[in-house]
This record gives sequence, structure tokens and C-alpha cells, in this order.
Amino acid sequence: MRVDYHVHTRLCKHAIGEVEDYVRRALALGLDEIGFSDHNPMPGGYDDALRMGIGQLPEYAALVARARAAFPKFPIRFGIEADFHDGTEDWVRASLAPYALDYVIGSVHFLGTWGFDNPDHVAQFDRRDIFELYEEYFAKLARAAASGLFDVIGHPDVIKKFGHRPARDVEPLYRRVLGAISAAGLALDVNTSGLRKPVREIYPTLRFLQVARSLDVPVTLGSDAHEPGHVGEDFDRAVELLTAAGYNRISVFEARRRHDLPLG
Ligand code: ZN
Ligand code: FE
Ligand code: FE
Ligand code: ZN
Repeated sequence: MRVDYHVHTRLCKHAIGEVEDYVRRALALGLDEIGFSDHNPMPGGYDDALRMGIGQLPEYAALVARARAAFPKFPIRFGIEADFHDGTEDWVRASLAPYALDYVIGSVHFLGTWGFDNPDHVAQFDRRDIFELYEEYFAKLARAAASGLFDVIGHPDVIKKFGHRPARDVEPLYRRVLGAISAAGLALDVNTSGLRKPVREIYPTLRFLQVARSLDVPVTLGSDAHEPGHVGEDFDRAVELLTAAGYNRISVFEARRRHDLPLG
């Protein structure tokens, strides 16, 4: 079983291509399922330039429905990548409630007002202690896990995106956040887009996955495609990494219920 559950659409204003082209790519690669997970609308002007507006959620649902109509025999999941940001939980929950989503990926992209994964703001890393930054990031990710909003935790160690590594051992941070993820019963988005970023590594790293495996935290696969050609990219490497960490199952989602199947 192989699925790509982290796929964007042009509604977020920084992805290109039609939904049918993403699906065609998944079919050409022999994937078993694709799931769209575009950036969710957020309140109060939060990162507005890089996401759909609240009024566009119906259009997003219609795009996924259009893809399903074009490929009726291929499983196409209706997901969303929702930002976790303290104070926005109720708004996000209410905004998503009317939709028959298959899964919600929860991601942390901001610490305070700093969009730390945005290349335009990478200079901020130089003003911070990297270990403290990792602590702050993983603490926020643990709150995301405990929020009850999500089914999957997105690109779990994206804080490493530009290659900043703390001098101190980060395993205690991994253990703490994975304890929260495990307690909440969430899966991890094993996300190959890190290979296309300066860090040149899958999210999350092997050590993180080994701890996750020891806690029985399930996993799913994502490319974070922002163009059709990225669908399923480097999945052989992701499967290798998962195998190295001791995984032989992958999770799929339907109507926000998880099923674990053999990883292939
Ligand atoms: Zn994006
Ligand atoms: Fe993301
Ligand atoms: Fe994404
Ligand atoms: Zn993402």
C-alpha cells in the first residue's frame, strides 16, 4: 500500500496545476490512493497570501469532487492541512465542521508571528538559540496533538528545513512530543518534501521515527506536492526510511477513521 496524502491545489496561491493532473501522476506511479490536503483558511489575516479564504472552502470541496468524478474508480481522499496556532482552535474547528473530510493534517508553520518555514524570513534563525527554538517548536506541536483538531501531524520536524541543528541532543524533545502524539492517537505525515529543501532530508528524521515506532505511533506518506510532478516523489526513499525504523504498516483514512494496511 502506498498513498500520497499531502497534496496541495492552486487554491493556496502557491501551487500550480489542475487536480486531475495530480491524480494522473498518482495513477502513473501506481499509488493506491491520493489525498488532497490544501492549506486551510485561517482567521485574522494569518498568512493570508498563502492559503484559500474562508469563502473558498466550497470551491475546494468542489475541486476534490471534480477529481473524484473524473476518476471514479481511484480512491481520492478529501483532506486538509490545517495550521495549529494557539487561540485559533475554535475558529478552525467551526470552519471545517460542515465538510465531509477524510482527514485533517495539523501543521505548525509559525512561532509567534514568525513564519519560520518561509524562506523570506530565514534570517531570524540567526537571532535565536537553535535548541530553544526546537523546544518551542516541539512544545507547540505537542499542543497541536492535544488539541483534538487533527488526525495526522504534518511534516513533524519541519523546524530543520533550512539545516539549522541544535548542538544539544534533541531526543528528549522527540520523546515528549511523541508522547503527546501517541496519547492523542494521531498518525505522522512522513513527508518527502524535505528532500527538496536545504536540509535535504525527509521529515521526520530516522531517530524521530524510531522513537515513534517504539510508541506504536502510526504513519502515512506525503509528498507535499505543490505541482503535479511532485506527487509520490522519493517514496522509495520514504519506504526505505520507514523500514529502517521498523515500520511495515501505513495508515489510510476515510471519514476521519484510520485503517492500518501493509506498507508496500
Ligand atoms: Zn504550501
Ligand atoms: Fe506545511
Ligand atoms: Fe503542505
Ligand atoms: Zn506542508
